[in-house]
Amino acid sequence: MDDFMNDEYKDLFTATQCPTQQQLLDYVQGRLSPEQQHEVELHLMDCEMCSEAIEGLSAFEQKEMIPVWLRQMKWQMLRKLRTRKRRKDQVAYFTQLAIIVIVILFILLAAFWAFHFVRHR
Ligand SMILES: [Zn+2]
Repeated sequence: MDDFMNDEYKDLFTATQCPTQQQLLDYVQGRLSPEQQHEVELHLMDCEMCSEAIEGLSAFEQKEMIPVWLRQMKWQMLRKLRTRKRRKDQVAYFTQLAIIVIVILFILLAAFWAFHFVRHR
């Protein structure tokens, strides 16, 4: 009797288990893993409610992105303020990066000239 009840309950639960709105939003924005995406796609074939929800979310995708952008901008500003002390380190890092890039460019240029010289001798 108990087992029967549990099975029935489990089936009911499985049948009505829809992804959360956040999961659907992640699906629309392509942020789910391929496995998760496949699961949502399988569910969408059987669930009209979620299919309609996806349509609605797709239409509002750009609108939904605005708060995300604002949050990202705010977060980046906060991060800049917090890392202001490390600015000198950053300058040193970018100087090193610039030197590396210049060296690579010189090597490429040298290689190009060597190649050019050998081919046209
Ligand atoms: Zn559903």
